Amino acid sequence: MPRAEVTGAGSESPLAAGGPSTPPIFSNGHPVYGSAVDAQTRCVHWHGETDVVALKFLCCDRYYPCFDCHEEDAHRGEGAHESSRWPVARWDEPTAVLCGVCGTELSVNAYLATEDCPSCTAVFNPGCALHAHLYFETPQRTR
Ligand SMILES: [Zn+2]
Ligand SMILES: [Zn+2]
Ligand SMILES: [Zn+2]
Repeated sequence: MPRAEVTGAGSESPLAAGGPSTPPIFSNGHPVYGSAVDAQTRCVHWHGETDVVALKFLCCDRYYPCFDCHEEDAHRGEGAHESSRWPVARWDEPTAVLCGVCGTELSVNAYLATEDCPSCTAVFNPGCALHAHLYFETPQRTR
């Protein structure tokens, strides 16, 4: 059965709208959007040795290497939108964070509880914890 036409602005997904134009790179088969520069999900903003995780943005259901990558991509073209953060209630969902080295996906809880990939032991950039509030909705806002 064909899908009914989507009516009303705002309900349209950025994917359907033609949206951001940067094609994804593929990291172990997972598409990663934004300004990624290699298959381990480093990007033009963060490309140190340990910058090997991508984070899923719920607003567009895509992996991006970093918050800035999403911001740049999400404000381009028709599908422009604000970034969403992971609500605590969904921190157990297993596909929030992608290890760019081996392709393992982690939940927010698992990611926040570890310093390296449980699967391939790649070390994750400890500095990312400073920016966790950009990706994950924390009950108490710390600054
Ligand atoms: Zn988005
Ligand atoms: Zn970036
Ligand atoms: Zn890994």
